[in-house]
Amino acid sequence: MQRVYLDNSATTPVAPEVIEAMMPYLTGKFGNPSSIHFFGQEARGAVDKARHQVAALINARPNEIVFTSGGTEANNLAIRGLCEANNKHGRHIITSAIEHSAVKNVCEDLEKQDYWVTYLPVYEDGIVRIEDVEAAMTAETILISVMTANNEIGTIQPVSEIGRMVRGLREKGRKIWFHTDAVQAVGKIPVDVEEIGCDLLSISAHKIYAPKGVGALYTRRGVRLHPQNIGGHQERERRGGTESVPNIVAFGRACELAAEEMTISADYLRSLRDKLENKIGETIPDVTFNGHRENRLPNISNISFSRIEGEALLINLDMQGIAVSTGSACSSGTLEPSPVIRALAVPPASAGGQSEEDRSRGAIRFSFGRFNEKEDIDKTIDALPKAVENLRRLSANG
Ligand SMILES: *Cc1c(COP(=O)(O)O)cnc(C)c1O
Repeated sequence: MQRVYLDNSATTPVAPEVIEAMMPYLTGKFGNPSSIHFFGQEARGAVDKARHQVAALINARPNEIVFTSGGTEANNLAIRGLCEANNKHGRHIITSAIEHSAVKNVCEDLEKQDYWVTYLPVYEDGIVRIEDVEAAMTAETILISVMTANNEIGTIQPVSEIGRMVRGLREKGRKIWFHTDAVQAVGKIPVDVEEIGCDLLSISAHKIYAPKGVGALYTRRGVRLHPQNIGGHQERERRGGTESVPNIVAFGRACELAAEEMTISADYLRSLRDKLENKIGETIPDVTFNGHRENRLPNISNISFSRIEGEALLINLDMQGIAVSTGSACSSGTLEPSPVIRALAVPPASAGGQSEEDRSRGAIRFSFGRFNEKEDIDKTIDALPKAVENLRRLSANG
């Protein structure tokens, strides 16, 4: 069976150019970057080059990039690291109600350690309001962590406004910092740390066609973090442990590709997404498109199918060779309705006439990538109406 992969927000295949770049570092160029001899220096040079490539994609300086094992570790280092280094200034954190579990669960854990956290609402369009951020501020607030774009519905948050607010406060002498999880946004839309005005920004390689197990935390010059991985002197004392050289090289190459191809790629992804959404709107009754219609990533479509379980539809499509998801890979397998969809404040009778419960249970995420073809969308459009109809008939009889 020729399978169709529409779960690129969970992870992407590795691009051939990326494999080619990393291969020498899995074979002959195996040195440890901390070694003084030739082999070590060869590896050090490769890590430095990758650091420049990652920095260039987000308009940072190379020495502001801390390589980590991925987005999750970058979020842990950002939030825990900043709080532990700065809690003499306060113990209040502001975040959104729809963060990835790698931010949400870290915040919840900190609540057990005498920090307090405000979870900002997102309204029906899935977007945080700057007035709410301002209203949540207290004299104790040391950190605001709001994602650049959401991983389930793709909505883009007003991060530049938040960055401007935080910078304004800091100019008045306040001790407050801004972190953003940009894992889904990087490579899809322009992400510029100066334009956003953030102090910390998380990225992951495996969402942009590089391998799993590597990522980075952008750390603005002068921002103090308490390291979470304590060991050697790597990453300027900010993250101990021998660098994963092949992965870092791959990540650097993937960032370079993303910078070169972003505009064309975004237009292409948007065309696939719009084709799917238009067809679903025409052929399937009682559906709701989740999240803001315009202010979102080009590659994610999240749709609630009334009166069915998202999991059941996912399994049905999988049997027909089409891979989608019901939300984030991290919370699936639990059969809990998506907390992100639940956080969208749905009016009693929304467009599709769906209740909040029905809408969160019936949500499916389609996420597109550079290796998808138009035929993938055609196959999905062929399979979907019948699958939905069958499941609705079953649930009506059950
Ligand atoms: C995938 C993802 C992460 C986690 O990154 P890993 O590299 O898988 O640890 C964090 N945040 C968001 C928004 C993500 O989509």
